[in-house]
Amino acid sequence: MSQALQTPQAAGSAAPLTIRMHASDNVAIVANDGGLPVGTELPGGLVLRDKVPQGHKVALVDLPKGAVVLRYGVPIGHALSDIAAGSWVHERLLQMPDARELDNLPMATVKPEPQPALEGYTFEGYRNADGSVGTRNILAITQTVQCVAGVTDFAVQRIKAELLPRFPNVDDVVALEHGYGCGVAIDAPDAVIPIRTLRHISLNPNFGGEVMVVSLGCEKLQPERLLPPGSIPLVDERNVADVGTSAETRLDVVCLQDDAHVGFMSMVDSIVRQAEEHLERLNARRRVTVPASELVVGVQCGGSDAFSGVTANPAVGFCTDLLVRAGASVMFSETTEVRDGIAQLTARATTPEVAQAMVREMAWYDAYLKRGSVDRSANTTPGNKKGGLSNIVEKAMGSIVKSGSAPISNVLAPGEKLKHKGLTYAATPASDFICGTLQLAAGMNLHVFTTGRGTPYGLAAVPVIKVATRSDLARRWHDLMDINAGAIADGSASIEDVGWEMFRLMLDVASGRKKTWAEHWKLHNALVLFNPAPVT
Ligand code: CA
Repeated sequence: MSQALQTPQAAGSAAPLTIRMHASDNVAIVANDGGLPVGTELPGGLVLRDKVPQGHKVALVDLPKGAVVLRYGVPIGHALSDIAAGSWVHERLLQMPDARELDNLPMATVKPEPQPALEGYTFEGYRNADGSVGTRNILAITQTVQCVAGVTDFAVQRIKAELLPRFPNVDDVVALEHGYGCGVAIDAPDAVIPIRTLRHISLNPNFGGEVMVVSLGCEKLQPERLLPPGSIPLVDERNVADVGTSAETRLDVVCLQDDAHVGFMSMVDSIVRQAEEHLERLNARRRVTVPASELVVGVQCGGSDAFSGVTANPAVGFCTDLLVRAGASVMFSETTEVRDGIAQLTARATTPEVAQAMVREMAWYDAYLKRGSVDRSANTTPGNKKGGLSNIVEKAMGSIVKSGSAPISNVLAPGEKLKHKGLTYAATPASDFICGTLQLAAGMNLHVFTTGRGTPYGLAAVPVIKVATRSDLARRWHDLMDINAGAIADGSASIEDVGWEMFRLMLDVASGRKKTWAEHWKLHNALVLFNPAPVT
């Protein structure tokens, strides 16, 4: 892999290379850096009638008007006019098919052969009181409302400068800033989504069960509503458990409007003082050897191109299967990007109930989009299209392969917390930050992110392993991409090779032995809550 990174291949110097994903496909994508010029003769003798950019499709046979265009063995569109063999098949030549109806789907019909358990793989993690395992040891400061963000940030800067050097076992201090809490219809049925998302993020395994809240005082989302009694393993409860007396339930809240606060610095002092207690406990923790089954991996893609579904996502899919075999938890998400593959997913569900839960989430999302007078086709970006993805159907077929081949055993609605091992469909929007935020709420302790066009995405709360779909991107973004799956298209590595590389890197990163590039540069995207409820 490193060899592929270090020996740049001059654009256009290699033999013409096209990739067909399925034997029935009547198009293939051009793999060469820089694309291929008009007149190029492909290995099978076909001569290009147009210049075809890298990642874009070429017609392998004559496609008369109305013909079905097949990629991944599925219809990605119908030809809007006659397309001669050797032509560039771009998005303006394709009519997108309608979405599959959500009735009469195959429900739990596929029973994959059980794969042998993968044993003996471990990592060094932080074991929490609730049984979960962290890959980092971070103090998170929960906020009930956006109003307190500036004060909290000021306090966090002081905590980092004055306290953190005294607590070397603590990796970071992170303010959980968000736009919610006031100016919202807090009793609307869908408000449950942002509220439980924020609650569950506060309980992410990387925060060690130390929950501390900064509140304004007058906001709609009161601390007791965000974290009601019983929702968290309370600090006192855990301390008391050691000495065997009854628990006093106290939520650690710094309320800025409290009468005791006189002047800005008294608020900052309160936050810093409370943080110190939590830092002392976090600092006393040590990594212990735990089985790979304690990984909770969220996978997603962003800035996708036509190689996403050829190189990086299949390698993630192979790694997903390894993780499931090791007994770990893996989540795939991004509803609009799997909607067109719903029949594959419901068929792979372990039970009809799991399949039905998937249908429920898809139907909810169809209705949500319809309320906004759009459908799933609103997903594809100008960059996706420039990268060769004609429409959402083609994008979905490449996205869904991240889920590998294991049975789907669990479904989460947005903001719910994961309770099961194995492969889970966690319903989220495809938006990178919203998907990442919801996977954090589900309890992810490691994130894998594939990109073709390139994105510097990162999160403060968990390490993000970024995977480039093309060697060209891996070369140019050599200090942002952690793995080059483009080696698969170059022919210098197999899907299995890159999948294993990813699996081993995950164990190293989870153990803190290696940092991802996003961690190295401290690239932290905002938490973005999914709020489908009205704002007032
Ligand atoms: Ca995404």
